Formats: sequence, C-alpha cells, structure tokens
Amino acid sequence: MTTTGGCLCGAVRYEVDAAPVAVRTCWCTDCQKFAAGNATVNVVFPADAVRLEGKLTDYASTADSGNRMHRGFCPICGTPVTTGSEARPHLLGIRGGTLDDPALARPEITIWTRSAPSWAVIDPDIPCEETQPALPGPSTTSPRRAAAALDPVEDPDRRPRRLSGHAACATPRPRARG
Ligand SMILES: [Zn+2]
Ligand SMILES: [Zn+2]
Repeated sequence: MTTTGGCLCGAVRYEVDAAPVAVRTCWCTDCQKFAAGNATVNVVFPADAVRLEGKLTDYASTADSGNRMHRGFCPICGTPVTTGSEARPHLLGIRGGTLDDPALARPEITIWTRSAPSWAVIDPDIPCEETQPALPGPSTTSPRRAAAALDPVEDPDRRPRRLSGHAACATPRPRARG
C-alpha cells in the first residue's frame, strides 16, 4: 500500500510504501502551536519508507531529555509536514493533515492530555496519557510499542505555565486490545 500526501501549496509531496507503526494525537503545548490551537495527529512510519519530494525547512530544538528534535515544514506555505527525533532516526512522523486521505490517520492513543485546554475533545474510546508514555527498554520493545513512545515534541514542562488541564485523562482507563 502506498500512502501519499503533501503540503497545502504542493511544493512538498511524499509517498510512503509502508504501514504506519503508530498514530498518535498529541496535546503538548508545542503541538498546539504547530496545530493552530488543536492537537497534532502524527502518523509514524519507518523513516526509510518515506520518499519526500520538495524542500522542507528544518526546525531543530533540544528536549529536556536531551533528544534533538526536528520538525519539517514547507517554507512556502508553512504547513508542518514531518517530525522526528535524532534518538529514533528509524522513525519519521508525518502530520496527519497532510495525507491525501486524512481518514487513514485514525489515532490510536492521545498523549499529553495534561496540557490540553479544558474545551478539548478527547476520544474516550482510545487510551490516553497525561504526559509522554515512558520509553520501553530496547529488549522488550516491539516496533509498535516503541513508536507509541516516540517523542514528537520536547517536554513542555521546560516552559512552565499555568494550565487548566483536562479531566478526560484523569483516571486510568483500560488499554485498547489488539
Ligand atoms: Zn507548501
Ligand atoms: Zn506534541
């Protein structure tokens, strides 16, 4: 299956010849900036399966964990297209809104609900995490589990601010099976 997509103006296009290893909705404060106030939806693919055409501008920053993060956006129209961590170069996140068929980007987990605004709509039918899921050890890491722990953004805790938080993820819920 080939997944295709691109930015708003069409200067950046991509094709992916692999299934996503994870799809995550992220409500961290950084993502709320990239996503114009909402959460980002990140479709994580094996990096070597993504063929990009056109030039992305790279915005690099360092997370509290020390991981160097890279976000790629179109320099013409500004659309956020990619996100990735130098700690996990084998994975590349594609912003869900850039898919030619956004229906493919059905999230399977919501993360950083702690920093979601109180009006945020959080899917009650999928697991959620108040912050970032812990990164499992390499010996026990399945690709999907590893991708679930992928850090598409730096820890927003490095910029303390007053947050109302979101009640949707206040109590643990059963993990979806399958
Ligand atoms: Zn563009
Ligand atoms: Zn985020």
